[in-house]
This record gives sequence, structure tokens and C-alpha cells, in this order.
Amino acid sequence: RMEKSKKYQDIHLEAARFYFANLLKGKNPGYDYLRKRGLDDKTIKKFGLGFSQKSWNELMDYLLSKGYDKQDLVQCGLVNHKSEGNKYYDRFRNRVMFPIFDYRGNVIGFGGRVLDDSLPKYLNSPDSLIFNKRYNLYGLNFSRKNIVDRTIILVEGYMDLISLFQYGVRNVVATLGTALTEQQGNLIKRYADTAIISYDSDEAGIKATLRAIEILSKIGINVKVINLKDCKDPDEFVRKYGLEEYKKAIGDSTHYIKFRIDHLKKSFNLQKDEERVKFAKEASKIIKELKSPVEVDYYTNYIAKQINISTESIKKEVYGKDYNKV
Ligand code: ATP
Ligand code: MN
Ligand code: MN
Ligand code: MN
Repeated sequence: RMEKSKKYQDIHLEAARFYFANLLKGKNPGYDYLRKRGLDDKTIKKFGLGFSQKSWNELMDYLLSKGYDKQDLVQCGLVNHKSEGNKYYDRFRNRVMFPIFDYRGNVIGFGGRVLDDSLPKYLNSPDSLIFNKRYNLYGLNFSRKNIVDRTIILVEGYMDLISLFQYGVRNVVATLGTALTEQQGNLIKRYADTAIISYDSDEAGIKATLRAIEILSKIGINVKVINLKDCKDPDEFVRKYGLEEYKKAIGDSTHYIKFRIDHLKKSFNLQKDEERVKFAKEASKIIKELKSPVEVDYYTNYIAKQINISTESIKKEVYGKDYNKV
């Protein structure tokens, strides 16, 4: 098994080198695409970005010529096998290639992006002997040496992380679209006590943020959320407003309890009395999860201010009959 893992890592490294070499061969659409997205040569090299040509077998033929076994290429998820007609063909074709590293820097998978608006936008390696999505955080091999104050920033995508790195924000990991898993949460906990979520500002991003808050706060991580203003993701933000503004957004990031209360508030029409009561009740449930009395006080006040009722009554709602005991 050890030997097989080593072999699969070698295969992935060879593949990454192959895709990278493609980028530099003459005029390459993948290279033009990455430059158009604002990445410089140094960044492209650091992250080992590459290109898979519009071909059904270029990678397979190359790796076979290197002496690797076809079945191993299938097991790595680099080659697909169609039992009908017993056909083998490259999984990634005509895509910009992002090698996925483990925390030590071994290539264990790939993400491939189309150059246009066709779907699926990203195609990722399937899980394999050496790649388990649930346990992996993209970019951790680069960022773990740059984590200061045990604070880490969470983004969704490859481009978000790479773009932030190029601009100089280097304590970042990406969860790669999939909602954050408990295993990824535990991995974060090894390196950080504070996580600042910087997911996309669309509905999917907000949903993923709420889920990540749930997982991270449960394991005792202090969670905050960045406000991206009018931008859809951190890549767009840092390109539009620059490094200093992003740092400012980090500094201004919202404590997760406030984020949850603000999010909850959106689903009520606070002009109506009965809705204000409903909001107060729901918001009290959030307060109930807090352990620190100072936080309870602070966020109780915050809720009270939103709907102009007394802090007393919210505390009664939170503690019920036990109110007099606190
Ligand atoms: P870009 O800026 O290149 O459009 P993005 O990172 O902003 O990319 P999103 O649609 O926000 O793209 O997706 C975030 C991340 O989710 C991607 O980086 C990728 O890892 C993952 N992802 C997106 N679409 C898919 C898909 N169809 N299949 C698997 N993973 C995907
Ligand atoms: Mn998104
Ligand atoms: Mn993007
Ligand atoms: Mn995005």
C-alpha cells in the first residue's frame, strides 16, 4: 500500500510536470487565459499551473511511455475507462490545470477549469488511494508556514487562494467549493484558533458560510466573516480594491454571532410587531448557544437595539424561568 501510494504520487507529479510544460510550449490558450486573469509567471510557476490539450490521449500516452500501468492511471483518476468498447481516454481535456497538493506538497489530484463558459466549469480528480477531498485543504502546503497569530482565512476556490497569494495574503486555505467538512475543520484547528471566512457573496456562499460557522464554532474555533462589499469573491475583491482594502476587510470582519443574527434578520419584516417578536425569539436561540456572559450581554444588547425592545425581555426569553438565577 505504501509503495502504491508512492507510485501514485509519482504519477501525479509526472502529470503535473507534463501539464506545466504544455503551458510554456509556444502560444498556449491556457497560458493566455491565466495571464488574462491577472496571474504573473512567478505565481503560475509557484502553483504549478498547467494545461491539458484538446486531446483524448496525450497524457495517457505520455505516462505509458514512462512505463506506468494503464490501470494505475485509471485508479489515479487521470484516465477514464469506458467498458463499452473497452476505451481509455484522458479525464482532463482542454482545461487549465490546478495541481492539488497535500499539506506536505505532494501532488495528489487536479482541478481543471474550462477556458470559456461551458459546463462543468471545474472538473476535479475523483477520490483515490492518495486523494480524499474531505480531509484535504487546498493551499495548506503553502500557507502553513505563513500562519501568524494562529489565524487562517478560508476561501472557496483555487483562483481566490492563488490571487490572494499573489497580492500578499498568505495565510489562506481553500475548501474547493464543497461545504467545509468536519475533517477539514479538525485540520484547521491544528494550525489556527481563529478562522476568517471569505467565501463567495452569492447565496451558495452564504449557505456554505453558515455551515462552516456551525462546524468550526463547535470545535472551539473563533469564527469571523469578511464582507466583500459589491464583489462576488475574494479574487474579484483584491483585483478591484487591492491588498490594503482586503486587509481592512479582514480587520472589519464580523463575529459569527453577529453574522448569524444579521442573516436571520433578513427573513423578517421588522416593521410588523409580530415579526419583531418572532425575530427576537429566534435570535434568542442563537444567544443561548453562547457560553461567555460577556458575549451574551453584548449580543443581547445588539438584538434589542435592532428591534427597539428591552434587553431584559430578551434575557428572559433566553433563560426562561431561570432568569432570576443569572
Ligand atoms: P472562477 O473565478 O475561475 O470562475 P471560482 O473559484 O470563482 O472560479 P466558483 O464557481 O465560485 O468558481 O467555485 C468555487 C470552487 O468550487 C472552485 O474553485 C472549484 O474548486 C469548485 N467548483 C466549482 N464548480 C465546480 C464543479 N462543477 N465541480 C466541482 N467543483 C467545482
Ligand atoms: Mn462560488
Ligand atoms: Mn472567481
Ligand atoms: Mn467564486
